Formats: sequence, structure tokens, C-alpha cells
Amino acid sequence: MLGVPLSSLEHISLAYGLDHYSLDRPYRFMLKYFIGEDPDLKELGRYTGTEVYEVAYRVDRLSFPLLVNWSVTEKNPDISWLDPMERKVLVDLVSKFGINRHPFEGRSWQNHYAGIYLVGDPGIACILTITIQTAYALFKYGNEEIRDYYKNLSGISRDLLWGATWFTEVQGGSDLGANTTKAEKVSRRWRLNGYKYFASGAGIADMALATARPVGAKQSAKGLALFLVPRLNSDDKINYRVRRLKWKSGTAAVPTGEVEFIDTEAYLIGVPEKGIYYTMEDLMVSRLANSMGAMGVARKSYLEAYGYASIRRAFGKLIKDHPLLARDLLEAELKTEAGLAVVMKAISLFDEAWHDEPPYTDKYHYARFMTHIAKNFSADVAADVSRTAMEIFGGIGFLYEFPVERWHREALITPIWEGTSNIQALDMLEAMWKKGAHRTFIEDMEEIARSQEESKLADEMLDIIKDTIRRVEERPQEAEWIAKWALNRFAKATAVLMLLDMGRALKDDMFVDIANLYHGLAFTGEVKIPDKDVLSNIISLRGGLDEVNWKERARI
Ligand SMILES: Cc1cc2nc3c(=O)[nH]c(=O)nc-3n(C[C@H](O)[C@H](O)[C@H](O)COP(=O)(O)OP(=O)(O)OC[C@H]3O[C@@H](n4cnc5c(N)ncnc54)[C@H](O)[C@@H]3O)c2cc1C
Repeated sequence: MLGVPLSSLEHISLAYGLDHYSLDRPYRFMLKYFIGEDPDLKELGRYTGTEVYEVAYRVDRLSFPLLVNWSVTEKNPDISWLDPMERKVLVDLVSKFGINRHPFEGRSWQNHYAGIYLVGDPGIACILTITIQTAYALFKYGNEEIRDYYKNLSGISRDLLWGATWFTEVQGGSDLGANTTKAEKVSRRWRLNGYKYFASGAGIADMALATARPVGAKQSAKGLALFLVPRLNSDDKINYRVRRLKWKSGTAAVPTGEVEFIDTEAYLIGVPEKGIYYTMEDLMVSRLANSMGAMGVARKSYLEAYGYASIRRAFGKLIKDHPLLARDLLEAELKTEAGLAVVMKAISLFDEAWHDEPPYTDKYHYARFMTHIAKNFSADVAADVSRTAMEIFGGIGFLYEFPVERWHREALITPIWEGTSNIQALDMLEAMWKKGAHRTFIEDMEEIARSQEESKLADEMLDIIKDTIRRVEERPQEAEWIAKWALNRFAKATAVLMLLDMGRALKDDMFVDIANLYHGLAFTGEVKIPDKDVLSNIISLRGGLDEVNWKERARI
């Protein structure tokens, strides 16, 4: 045949070119459970499986953002120059597919995070996330002067703007209370001076949220106020300098820079004393995005690996037919379903609570508690599944040339940004000690367990949750030592309970089978060889994957 193929990715990727939504039956069932419908995301599934997939790969290898801080005039533009295809993809995702609009137009956050999951790539997902975070703060707490910009940031208005969230400084990201950026009110206008050390979206954001300490405010995190900082000041001049872009192991699609505020004009969000609350709320939005994005990374790695295992032969048969490799695939599948169940539970709690304002109700504290659990758990799943996927590819899995190694690199950001796993564990403890969030957690899990007809497994999970809480409460002086262990145990028990409940609510034994198998994997390390019926249930859950003609895709 004549002609040059339009994309070389189809020769090196098995996930490229597929509709990543329609093929994902487990996720679609879960959406049905959480929002009562399987929305029509076919077009987005295809778009994220082709255009987005290719752009993210190419940007990582060849076309990362370039900081342009020179110009033919005396003006410094300080712009991050993105690959033109990446710009197009970003605009499409927001304008055409409306990923960032849903919550502000009365739909659920599950709809928004579906987009993040399908995008998967943490760089592109980050740009969408920092933008919706900015919209969120303006929507909830912006005054008349700035509130309406949420429409531009969410894609409701046709003039699209991009946002960013700049909290971290060189002396500490986890320890936000150590921020030294100063805010001063000079005749009705706020001005910021300071240095933001990790600033994603630098050079592309039209406006950013930034934490800063008003003169005279407390020295702790409680003294931080939250501001909106436009890229251009009221004289239409650059309002802050982008000092450099960082050279990163992954997330290439998002420029991450260092930003210097020098008498930078800023608009106060809400009231100064509540800045740290607004910041933590905003972090909930990004932690959930990180969690759903991590699940996207896991899923895409798995798609690649499943495809390869369906074409690669060793010792006379397909590698997926060797029991050890079949088990690798099954475990990756179980971990992904468990991860999704927990993350989507956290999102559904946020959906119920996101209109809450400080001092917040128990509903909100519980949503935050579950978000810490989901953020930590999903990051582990992404790293684990993408590592297995690399191994399933054998030697070529380690090559820079194939997409699967990139997914593993991308997975490794997920436990770090938006608060490391240790910080999630500490924040979870705080939600327990100060807000009693674990009590709402137990009540909810008890209700779910009660809905299962005499399920010993559900009772066992409840016991595990209660036992974990008891151990945290029993020795407060050792609570930090065991906090991450507790976080993980809560996640695994929640996953089993949620999967059981999906089985009950959707009247589908597949989820019950998954719950039982995952229980073995998570708590005893023993995964029984599934009997034929169970296996065929799981294969049918994996659904579309066995209907894909992998050989044809791989041009064998
Ligand atoms: C690619 C990338 C993009 C980023 N983009 C942004 C952005 O746009 N905006 C922004 O604000 N930030 C951003 N960050 C910063 C990121 O959120 C921080 O790097 C992260 O929160 C960790 O902070 P740190 O780097 O200061 O690490 P540190 O706070 O110095 O932590 C170092 C280690 O100590 C551990 N640790 C710290 N305190 C404790 C404790 N009390 N108990 C136990 N362990 C502890 C941490 O878990 C970590 O393992 C970005 C980071 C990266 C890598």
C-alpha cells in the first residue's frame, strides 16, 4: 500500500486508536452505580485514545514546553510555548468535550473526573485540573469583581482562560505554614512579594491562585490568605516573572516553573483568615483529580499490557495463557477495580459536600477523609500496575521507545504532588482527631455492610476497619507510626465493601467475584484459581478487551 502512515504510534502502542471509554466496561458499570447512568462518552473515549494519547507521547519525547522570555520589544512575555497540537487538544477537551464545565452546570463531579480518567496523562490532566481549581475558588469565594471569571476558566464562556495553583515555596511544600510570600494592601490593592518554587501552568496561566501571608498575620498555616494573581497587571504589563521551567521525569505536557512575585497585583479570595481553608478545599479538587488520573494511568498501562499479552508468544503459546502471566493480568485488573471503587466513592462524597463552607459539616470532613485514602491508594495502584505492565512487555517494556515505560514514569508523580502519601496519612489522622471523620466513615460502611445479605466478607471488612481505628486511637503516641498502614487498610476494606455493594445494587455477581478475589489478594496474599464461571465473569467484565483483534492491531 502506498502512503506514509499518519501516526507511527499505531506500530508501537496497542492502546492507541481504541475507544478508551467503550472498552472500559468495569468503569462504565461503576458510573451506573454512582450516578445512575452510563453516559455517552464514546467520542471522548476515542479522542483520548488517539489524539490525546499521541500528543502526550510526543510531547514527552520531543516537544516539551519552551520558556520564551525574550522578545523583539522591551517587554518580557514569559510565555511557555506549547506544542501546537497540545494547545489544540487542551482547547478541545475544555470547549468541545466540556470536561471542566460539569459541576458548575449542575452535573456531577463524577462527570468531570471521567474526563480526567480518560485523559490519564498527568501533564495534560494537570492543566485541566489547575484550571478547574481556579474556577472552583472563584465560583465559591470570589467577590463580584472576579467571580465571573469562573465561566471563562470552566469553558462555559467561549473566551477560554487557563488557571493555576501556586502554593509551594522552596522551604516547603508539605509545610505550607512555612510560606514566606508576603501580601500587603497598598491603597485598596493587594501586592505580593515572594517566590513560588513549583508553579505548574507557569507561562500558560492567565490567572493563578497563590497563597501569601498578609503583613501582621499569624506565622502558621492559619495566617495564609488566598489570592488571585492575573498574568498581566492593571497596566497590561507582566505581573510576575517566570524564572525557569523545571526539567522533569514526567508530566512533560505541563510546564512547571519557578515564579517570582515582585509587587505583583493580586485580588483577595474571600476573607484573609480563611485562606488556608480555601486552599485545602482546592487541594481536595486536585487530590481527587490526581486519584482519578492515577487510575487512568493504571488502566492505560493495563490496556497496553493486555494487548501485548494477547499477541506475544513464548513456549508455543500466547503469554497470557501461561498461568503466571494470567495471574499477573488478573491481579492488575483486581487492583484497578479496587482503586476505582475507592476513588469513585471519594468523588461521590465530594459531590454531596462540595457546597459546604468553613467550619464545614461532618459530611465534608468525611469526604476529605476518604479523599486522603483515595489519593494514597490510587497512587500505589498506578505505580504497581504500570510496573507490572512494563514487565509483561519483557525487554521492550524497558525501552524508551514504547509507551509503557512512560506510563510507569508518569505514575511516579502521583504519590508526590498534591501532598505526598505521608501528608495524606497525617491529614487523615487530623480528620480523625479533630473532626471525628472516622465515626461517619464507620456509620457509612456499617450501612453498606448491612445491605449485603449475610455477607461474612462484609462483616470481616467492618471488623478490619474498626480494629484499625482502635489501634490508631489506642496509642496516640504511635498513631503517626502506623498512619500509612491504617490508610492502606481503610482503602482495601472500603474497596471490598464498595465492590460487594456494586454487586448488590447492579445485581451483578461479577463485582462480588472481584470483591472476593481482591480480598484474597489484599488481605491474605492468596488468590484462588478462579473457577471457570468466575473467570468467565471477570473476562466478560473486562469485556471489550477480548473482542479487540489485537493481532490485526499489531499488524501480525
Ligand atoms: C512536577 C511537579 C509539579 C508541581 N506543581 C505544583 C504546583 O503547581 N503548585 C504547587 O503549589 N506545588 C506544586 N508542586 C509541589 C508539590 O506539591 C510538592 O513538591 C509536594 O507537596 C512535596 O513538597 P516538597 O517538595 O517541599 O517536599 P517536602 O515537604 O520537603 O517533603 C520531603 C519528604 O518529607 C516527607 N515529610 C514532610 N513532612 C513530613 C512529616 N511531618 N511526616 C512525615 N513525612 C514528612 C514528605 O512526605 C516527603 O517524602 C509540584 C511538584 C512537582 C514534582
